Amino acid sequence: MTETAPNENLTSYVSHLECSMTCERYPKGEVRGLSSVGRPLLVRYDLEALARAFTPTDLANRPTGFWRYRELLPVTETRNVVSLGEVETPLIALDKECGRPIVKDEGRLPTGSFKARGLALAVSMAKELGLEHLAMPTNGNAGAALAAYARRADIAATVFCPADTPEINIAEIGIQGADVYRVDGLIDDCGRIVGADRDGVGWFDLSTLKEPYRIEGKKTMGIELAEQFRWSVPDVIVYPTGGGTGLIGMWKAFDELEAIGWIGSKRPRMIAVQAEGCAPIVRAFDQGVEHAERWENASTFAAGIRVPAAVGDFLILRAVRESNGFAIAVSDAAIEEARDDVARNEGLLLCPEGAATVAAYRAALADGSIDPSETTVLFNCATGLKYPLPTAGIPFNG
Ligand SMILES: *Cc1c(COP(=O)(O)O)cnc(C)c1O
Repeated sequence: MTETAPNENLTSYVSHLECSMTCERYPKGEVRGLSSVGRPLLVRYDLEALARAFTPTDLANRPTGFWRYRELLPVTETRNVVSLGEVETPLIALDKECGRPIVKDEGRLPTGSFKARGLALAVSMAKELGLEHLAMPTNGNAGAALAAYARRADIAATVFCPADTPEINIAEIGIQGADVYRVDGLIDDCGRIVGADRDGVGWFDLSTLKEPYRIEGKKTMGIELAEQFRWSVPDVIVYPTGGGTGLIGMWKAFDELEAIGWIGSKRPRMIAVQAEGCAPIVRAFDQGVEHAERWENASTFAAGIRVPAAVGDFLILRAVRESNGFAIAVSDAAIEEARDDVARNEGLLLCPEGAATVAAYRAALADGSIDPSETTVLFNCATGLKYPLPTAGIPFNG
C-alpha cells in the first residue's frame, strides 16, 4: 500500500485481542474492556501478512505523524480516524547536560501531551465500534485529550479528577465540551466512580489499560522513535511511569517491529521513573515481586505520575526486567531543580514528569547505572506550560 490518498477501506491486520496474563483470545471487532480475569487486553496482528504488505519504503510519501503507521494500528476504516493534527515529536539533545541525553518532546502534540496518542486511537476505535459515551478518571492530561478527541468525533465524554487538580486542567477539559467533576480522592478513587457508573449512564470506561486501544496509540512513540533512529533503537529509554501505558506500548512496538523485520533484536534498556512520594513500581522492582502494592498517601507535584496503583503493574515490571533496565524514584526537589536548570540552560521548558527523567538520568550517571556514552532518550510527556510555574519578576529597580 503506497497510496497517500485516504483509503476508504483501510486494511486492518488485527487478528484478535489477547489477555496479557492468560493469553486467552477474544475476537476482534467487539467492544471489550478488561479480560475475563480482569487484566489488560492486548491487540494482536497478523504480523506475517503485515510484513508482506508493508515496508519502510511505503512510508516515503506519507505525511509525518503517527497515522503514517496505520497498518500497525487497529482502525479499519479511514472515516473512523479522529485526528487533530498529530505531529512527529522532535528529538532535542540537552547540550549542556553531562552525557547529552536526548529529549523526545511530546508536549508538541494536540492538547499539549502524549495522552493525545492514546486517546486519538481509543476515540477512533470507540467511533468504529459505535460507542456513544466515554468516561475516565484523570490527573488532567488524559481528560483533556479525551475531551478534545471525543468532541471531534461527536461522542459524549465524562471526566473525574482528583479535587486538587489544577484549575487550568479542569478548565481545559470543560471548554472542550466534556462533563468534568472533582472527586475527594486520588485517581484510583476517581476510577472506582467510573467503573461503578452508579447512575447507570452506560458510559464506556476508558481508564488506563482498561480498554485495549490507548496502548496502541502510545505504541506509536516506539515506532516513531525507531524511525527517527533509522530503524534502530537508542541504548536507554527513561520514562516517567504512572499507569505505564507508554512503557508497555513501546515495548510492544519493538517486538512487532522486529517481527516484521523493520528493526533487529537490540532493545533499549527501559528505565521507569517515579516520584519518591508515589513509587509503587520502584518498590516492587526493588523487592523483586511481580505485582505492585498500592502506594498510600501518594503525593508529588508531577501529577501525571501520581498513580498509586496500576492495573498493568506486572507488564511494566516485566518490560523493565526483560530489558535489563531498572526503576528509580526521584524527589520533588530534584524534579524542580532539573526543570529549572533545563529551562535556564537549554531554553526547553519541561513538564515536571519530563524533568523527573532528567533528575533520574543525573542520579543514574552519578551511581554508574547509566553510562554517559550510552545514547539515552528522555521522555518529556507534556508541555511545561500546563503546570504552575515559579513566579518570575524581579522589580526593575531592585
Ligand atoms: C500520563 C502521564 C504520564 C504517565 O504516563 P503513563 O504512560 O500512563 O505511565 C507521564 N507524564 C505526563 C505528563 C502524563 O500526562
